[in-house]
Amino acid sequence: MRFLITAGPTREPIDPVRYISNRSSGKMGYAIAEAALAEGHDVTLISGPVTLEAPQKAQLISVSTSDEMFEAVCQHAHHCDICVLCAAVADYKPGAISPTKIKKCGEKFSLELVPTRDILDSLGHKQNRQFILAGFAAETDHVEENAGKKLRAKNCDIIVANDVSSANSGMESDLNEVTILFRNGEKKKIYRAQKKIIGRELVKIFSHFATKTFDKKNGAIN
Ligand code: C5P
Repeated sequence: MRFLITAGPTREPIDPVRYISNRSSGKMGYAIAEAALAEGHDVTLISGPVTLEAPQKAQLISVSTSDEMFEAVCQHAHHCDICVLCAAVADYKPGAISPTKIKKCGEKFSLELVPTRDILDSLGHKQNRQFILAGFAAETDHVEENAGKKLRAKNCDIIVANDVSSANSGMESDLNEVTILFRNGEKKKIYRAQKKIIGRELVKIFSHFATKTFDKKNGAIN
């Protein structure tokens, strides 16, 4: 199967030397990419700025801003069977980018932020979508409830919920613990483990779900 995976943070420039970003390391997305390649799948990895080395056999597309990630995903999604949007895309970006370095003035300073385009939501609401769509939900509270709301609002097939409230699991860590939510209300939990191990489990779950969905569409009897 052909996987499209987004990973890492985005950077939203304020001026030539400053940006807004987040703590995402890209480890989870890269682990999924590696696991998918190991299972013999094709992988297009659309990555924000991270310090990780991309798996050799992946088609790597490096981006920086949420707009660049949006364009890259829209361009490649239709050639894929499974889109896994694992990136921590910034929710807001500066309304305007200053062409010159903003000077310090010693007084209160505020920045106008505008919402970025939501890539997952936009793919989820595409007419006649042919690929499986999986999103991630990093939550600090009411994890499953909030993730379930995202699954429905963004109209995706699967949401992988992770609790990022603890320091030694989730963002930046090598470990994670996730709950996978499906549209039919089914749930699967993967207990605390290395992201590499979780990546392997997720690839199995995604490809099994895709096979089942595509077989059903093609009228195959299992
Ligand atoms: O709404 P929230 O940002 O928590 O949703 C997280 C999910 O949505 C992730 O799968 C993330 O990759 C995706 N997302 C996106 N574009 C955005 C914001 C989030 O694709 N602008």
